[in-house]
Amino acid sequence: MAGTRSTAGTAGRGAAARVRDMGTSIFTEMTDLARRTGAVNLGQGVPELDSPPALLKDAADALLAGSNQYPPALGFPSLREAVAAHQLRRYGLDYRPQGEVLITTGATEALASALLAFCDPGDEIIAFDPCYDAYAADARLAGARLVGAPLVLDGDGFALDADALRAAVSPRTRVLILNTPHNPTGKVFTADELAVIAEVCQEHDLTVVTDEVYEHLAYDGTRHVPIASLPGMRERTLTISSAGKTFNVTGWKIGWICGPAPLVAAVGAAKQFLTYASGTPYQEALARMLGSVEEWAGELRTTLRNHRDLLTDGLARAGLRPFRAEAGYFVQADVRPWGYADGVEFCRELPERAGVVAIPTSAFYLEAGAPAWLVRFSFCKREESIRTAVDQLVRAT
Ligand code: PMP
Ligand code: GLN
Repeated sequence: MAGTRSTAGTAGRGAAARVRDMGTSIFTEMTDLARRTGAVNLGQGVPELDSPPALLKDAADALLAGSNQYPPALGFPSLREAVAAHQLRRYGLDYRPQGEVLITTGATEALASALLAFCDPGDEIIAFDPCYDAYAADARLAGARLVGAPLVLDGDGFALDADALRAAVSPRTRVLILNTPHNPTGKVFTADELAVIAEVCQEHDLTVVTDEVYEHLAYDGTRHVPIASLPGMRERTLTISSAGKTFNVTGWKIGWICGPAPLVAAVGAAKQFLTYASGTPYQEALARMLGSVEEWAGELRTTLRNHRDLLTDGLARAGLRPFRAEAGYFVQADVRPWGYADGVEFCRELPERAGVVAIPTSAFYLEAGAPAWLVRFSFCKREESIRTAVDQLVRAT
């Protein structure tokens, strides 16, 4: 189950309760499996795609010119200005670079800092189930409990269950985590769904932490709408994004969080003692690149959409039942047509059977009763990797 894993092996005797029994992260486990078996790795969402050459050159130049010491704790003013300009230009969201934008060590640190900043032990946090594995782990580090509000299967996609969301709220709920576009499902929350979520958050006075790292990767004309842009939501929302997915630089770990000054100040209080600050030459390079993200992201979307189509068609040809991926890096597939009721068993046997590694979606589910037969395949890979994987899957049927 999500949130009971870490990347460091299992923490056992002597370890604090907050990390005890956390196993190895599913991403590490499956990437290791791919390495050991030589299988094509469609598991971890680590891109095999190129980054903008100008961005790489700028980062290299900054590094060689001596930009190697701590950046300002809040992040370079130029990058905070670029983030604020991006939010205004794209979504009409107005944030002051000084005080309402904070640069973080990836979205990962922004998420951890936000939950540490807004949850006391015993508090509850709602996330849509399935969800990215860091949410449950961060909740646990904060002493809070992550409660799942199920996304229900709806044809070849996933939908919000408004009644289940309302039922998930309790007097202890402090925060709602939204992730759109969504990992692992590839769903983009619709305008109607966002309106329901906004209503529930206002009714119960919840703080919203929204993870929008795939904001530039919505395909087929689907539009990403930040929940902060809905009426009455800016004041209670912390919006998180990062450079990793947008520019294929997941190893740089430059993220950011925008919100009203008092909320961002609370996040900054936690963040300064996690890393203080990081990524000096990368911050400098991204400050320049973010201003022209649209052109680059347009090309990247075309590539990723083609890869999604290649993988979706291939999974169908291999006799698996793919779901619709509107955005992001991942396609879900129903593996029951291959005779598996359990995605974990399927993923364990897949390297030997077809030379492919995928991730059981059960690793992302919080609550019991999840569809065990869902498996996540990643398409942020080279075309050649996807073609090889598909050929091997088709041959294995
Ligand atoms: N949120 C989601 C939904 C993700 O898929 C990821 C994966 N990389 C992250 C956050 C982490 O982002 P970063 O690499 O910027 O820390
Ligand atoms: N976000 C990536 C995924 O979902 C992996 C991130 C990680 O390895 N921690 O596959």
